[in-house]
Amino acid sequence: MTDYRLYIDGEFCEASDGGRFDSVNPANGQVWATAPAATEADVDRAVVAARRALTGGDWATMSATNRGRLLFELADRVAGRASHLGEIETRDTGKLAVETRGQSAYVADYYRYYAGLADKIQGDTLPIDKPDLHVFTIREPVGVVAAIVPWNAEMFLTATKVGPALAAGNTVVIKASEEAPAPLLEFAEVVHEVGFPPGVINLITGFGEPCGRALTSHPLVSRVAFTGGVETARRVVENTAQNFAHLSLELGGKSPILIFNDADLEGAVNGAVAGNFGASGQSCVAGSRVFVQAGIHDEFLERLIGRAEAIRIGDPLHEDTQMGPLATEAQRDRIEAVVAESRDQGATVHTGGKRPEGFDTGWYFEPTVLGCDSQSIRSTQVELFGPVMSVLTFESEEEAVAMANDSVFGLGAGVFTTDVGRAHRVAKAVHSGIVWVNTYRAISPVAPFGGFGQSGHGREAGIDTIYDYTRTKTVWINTSEDPMANPFVMR
Ligand code: NAD
Repeated sequence: MTDYRLYIDGEFCEASDGGRFDSVNPANGQVWATAPAATEADVDRAVVAARRALTGGDWATMSATNRGRLLFELADRVAGRASHLGEIETRDTGKLAVETRGQSAYVADYYRYYAGLADKIQGDTLPIDKPDLHVFTIREPVGVVAAIVPWNAEMFLTATKVGPALAAGNTVVIKASEEAPAPLLEFAEVVHEVGFPPGVINLITGFGEPCGRALTSHPLVSRVAFTGGVETARRVVENTAQNFAHLSLELGGKSPILIFNDADLEGAVNGAVAGNFGASGQSCVAGSRVFVQAGIHDEFLERLIGRAEAIRIGDPLHEDTQMGPLATEAQRDRIEAVVAESRDQGATVHTGGKRPEGFDTGWYFEPTVLGCDSQSIRSTQVELFGPVMSVLTFESEEEAVAMANDSVFGLGAGVFTTDVGRAHRVAKAVHSGIVWVNTYRAISPVAPFGGFGQSGHGREAGIDTIYDYTRTKTVWINTSEDPMANPFVMR
């Protein structure tokens, strides 16, 4: 059993009232770690420390190049510890160790990308339309950043926020999910070793209430970077009405995968499998609405079912496991309920739809393929966050696009076709922040990531994100030898 501690102002500490909560291993339902439940007082201490580090001391006066150096150092240490960090994430979330180890190693590249950008943030000299004035802009850090992350990819979603925030000179308070507190508190050890000035990075764990609410509404917080579900996001929007913090929202999805008659069938099946059974479907970009053109529907379905039934379910720490459990019991129960409701509404369960045999402990669910006649069926509408896809059929490209766009979400979309013209047309027509053509679920520090509609706003990764962590100051300098003119005498 590991008892983690908060990391505030450069020190490891308990919650102010000594409160703790359990972290459960989803593969066996056993408590394996505990973490402090941060109180409002802890949040305040962390934000005040971040504010102090922002406004005075080593961080405030550090050159941008040296900030970049610290981020490079962080990247190297994360890469060096990737295997351990990945394993901790697997214990806490049930995600496959092969994926969490690989992702932790790749996370280092996000820090490197922003480390390199630290001393390339610059303002402009403006071609002002008035004489004797020199006008320029400065890009300043926006202030204390509150980063809220969900349980499903904590190391990664922390890097997409902390990387640009620190590169731009901000300080951060990061709140881990109560469902998986361990990865971030383990990451705190790495942060501590790098030697950031106290208060620059603070890592806390706790519940939405009071911890998340206190953090996102704190008067000294200027920027909130939130990743999580839509209902939580509504509360975060309300919270930021208190401090008017600049807010980015990375939310859920119900992403479509469009598969045309001319597609490479093997590639399309791989896309649907990766988009729905990777991470047991617990991915914001899960491609859980699969639209297949009528001419290949039956063959596609047959191959897909064969692949789904061959998936090796098991302990996520084992190298040969292909699908682990769901993260929480509540999540497994919810998915079961939605599948049952969809069946009652007319969905055909082609495969899966239940708990796998031989798994008496842990929150496992079979890879599930539902056949749906229309998008009035519940499984086609709600984000499930589980290994369940709804397969629908279409006749024309126009119909496929209309069906894909019939959603309140707009995060990812997949297009499988060998027709280059169609690839461009559909990529342009679908309502989503990311489109993958003949591939799915690829990510990179270089490529902006984010959604439309109820999938949120703002982008993570990519070069522009760095500006989202700055504020612009415009400086006007009178260069004439004369004093400022009398304002009541018009020139
Ligand atoms: P969640 O919304 O339940 O929790 C997210 C975080 O918000 C947690 O840290 C939680 O403690 C915190 N929180 C809860 N109440 C709060 C409040 N009142 N104020 C501030 N913070 C509060 O999400 P989850 O179940 O942990 O994660 C799954 C969701 O995250 C899915 O909807 C998924 O699509 C989404 N997600 C989106 C992306 C993306 O980049 N678009 C990536 C990963 C996950």
